[in-house]
Amino acid sequence: MRCGEDGTDCALRHVVPALRGRCTKERRTGGRAVPYQWAARCPVCNADGKLTLTAKGRTLLAFCQKCRASQPDLMAALAKEFPDCFGVRPVRRGGIAAADLVALALAPMPPLSRQLAMLEMAGMSTPDALDKLGVSRQNRYRVIAGRASFVVAGATPE
Ligand SMILES: [Zn+2]
Ligand SMILES: [Zn+2]
Repeated sequence: MRCGEDGTDCALRHVVPALRGRCTKERRTGGRAVPYQWAARCPVCNADGKLTLTAKGRTLLAFCQKCRASQPDLMAALAKEFPDCFGVRPVRRGGIAAADLVALALAPMPPLSRQLAMLEMAGMSTPDALDKLGVSRQNRYRVIAGRASFVVAGATPE
């Protein structure tokens, strides 16, 4: 997930509460119940409880039982509601533009968020960059939010 959480944590913290979801499936690991599937509001047709969200490793899969929206449509709708979770990250092609580097250097943001933006600009994925920077899990969302306003000029979505 772009927010740096894995699928389960992103669902529990960001997506499921906002989409009025409820857990429908959980698995037991070491005596602990870990939820991995939820029924939630569909961001495309707005039907409550019709969107099935399934955590799978680092990602979150979605399917609407009602409108059966295509994956690209569903992901675009989710990216619109949760830009920090499903938003596409900028992909660099043909190196880093000097103007982008200057814009990043001058953009007001916390130092750690700037380091994250630099690593992303260099083509690193958000979770990998956060790992490299040693950002603890509870601080990830804050660091990402700090650089959220910075959009690389000319970035092409994935
Ligand atoms: Zn998230
Ligand atoms: Zn739907």
